[in-house]
Amino acid sequence: MLNQQGRPTRAESSQGQESRSFTGNRGLQMDEPLIFETGRLDVTGVDIETPAPFASRLGHLARSSEIGLPGLTEPEAVRHYVRLSQLNYSIDAGLYPLGSCTMKHNPRLNEKMARLPGFGDIHPLQPVSTVQGGLELMQMLAHWLIEMTGMSAVAMSPKAGAHGELCGMMAIKAAIAAKGEAGTRKVVLVPESAHGTNPATAALIGFEVRAVPARDDGTVDPAEVAKLAGPEVAAIMLTNPNTCGLFERDIVEIARILHAAGAYFYCDGANFNAIVGKARPGDLGVDAMHINLHKTFSTPHGGGGPGSGPVVLSARLADYAPVPFVRGGQAGEKGRTLELVETQEGASFGRMSAFHGQMGMFVRAMSYMLSHGADGMRQASEDAVLNANYVRVCLNDLLSSPFGKRTCMHEALFDDEWLKGTGITTLDFAKAMIDEGYHPMTMYFPLVVHGAMLIEPTESESKAALDLFIMTLRDLAFSVQRGESERFLGAPHFAPRKRLDETRAARTPVLRWTPRLPLAAE
Ligand SMILES: *Cc1c(COP(=O)(O)O)cnc(C)c1O
Repeated sequence: MLNQQGRPTRAESSQGQESRSFTGNRGLQMDEPLIFETGRLDVTGVDIETPAPFASRLGHLARSSEIGLPGLTEPEAVRHYVRLSQLNYSIDAGLYPLGSCTMKHNPRLNEKMARLPGFGDIHPLQPVSTVQGGLELMQMLAHWLIEMTGMSAVAMSPKAGAHGELCGMMAIKAAIAAKGEAGTRKVVLVPESAHGTNPATAALIGFEVRAVPARDDGTVDPAEVAKLAGPEVAAIMLTNPNTCGLFERDIVEIARILHAAGAYFYCDGANFNAIVGKARPGDLGVDAMHINLHKTFSTPHGGGGPGSGPVVLSARLADYAPVPFVRGGQAGEKGRTLELVETQEGASFGRMSAFHGQMGMFVRAMSYMLSHGADGMRQASEDAVLNANYVRVCLNDLLSSPFGKRTCMHEALFDDEWLKGTGITTLDFAKAMIDEGYHPMTMYFPLVVHGAMLIEPTESESKAALDLFIMTLRDLAFSVQRGESERFLGAPHFAPRKRLDETRAARTPVLRWTPRLPLAAE
């Protein structure tokens, strides 16, 4: 057996001998060691002739010991990565109900468009005269993002939601500085249910974070915001629909209070999937909002691809938008030339990243928008909300909900009240879902809900798929009621890796892998 360090999660360690096969594989599900355990340090996959003696010009910089990379043949290397990929759960493998993450289907048409040579093979350093089509696509996407959100401008370059938050908050910071209030407006209000990136973003650029408590119904109370709003408040960072899956029904009033106090309204738009085509953040009083193209507009994420987090800005913040941006002509105008404005001008706070953002994601998002049309995107939002409520209603006789049986938006939130006294936790329940072939929902988030289970089925699941998912969760819930704790406590029983001993991992972490074969020079 290979020497596998720091990984007490294999079949034999938690399940005893009966679940072991000779190879460690389970059927066609291959066990896979680290590449350093498969390959050998003293072999190579290719034969290269020993070079004729030559004078090295590296001097004292020449490496004196072995580099320590494992040698594998091409088939060994290919198998290693294919096997690893098969251990990975993905939206293409099954339902992926991670709340807040919006793991929806990535249409293959988008992939095809992104691979068109005119998009896929262009380079950011090419002369702009040779990438007019790419710039036109960026301009068109920017136009539709502004249109859909009812805002004034958009910064396309942020590369993820959190990066977009940073961009929006930097625009707010620049606007505050321009008004000469940099020394006084130091506080950012963040509701308790916020995604961790919100307070992290505010803190990173030097703001002091102050929490806004949630009401009993899971939404923000404008009276609490009014109490906190004042000359030292720079902005609020509010998610809508919020991370409890609820629409902040007082959002317009909250915006009014902040604006009256001279502060800005940053909206975390990660949950835009629930309201596209139904409500425009600009109409609600939002000043800046990031859009996760990888959530709302179906571009791949997780292990599947880079994110993209364009930020839409209100007229109050538009002047502070970062560079670069596309300029020139009207969309559809014949013979126009587009330019990419790269150098800072006016009040812009600078740039967020090298170049212009994630071109591949822009193409995919544009393809999604054009193939759905305005009515199709509105329908997607409606179906996302319908699916979440279907799941909620089909489970709420067995699972408990923190905010009563209120209609939700695109995600259904349960807590662990129903597990009380059973000895089974949200984590145990989630691990048992893995045995049933489901990626668990988001757990223990939002933090304001005890033992939270946040389920977001998305619009791209069929009723049949939802029914099977619901019946599976009901079966598990009945199992809890019958006291069948072994189904939960040791789970997952059937996955290639067993449950991590969390305590041991935290107390005595093995953070360093030591080579099986000594390196030649040691
Ligand atoms: C996903 C998410 C973010 C962060 O977006 P990334 O693209 O992962 O950086 C922020 N807020 C909420 C509510 C989210 O769901």
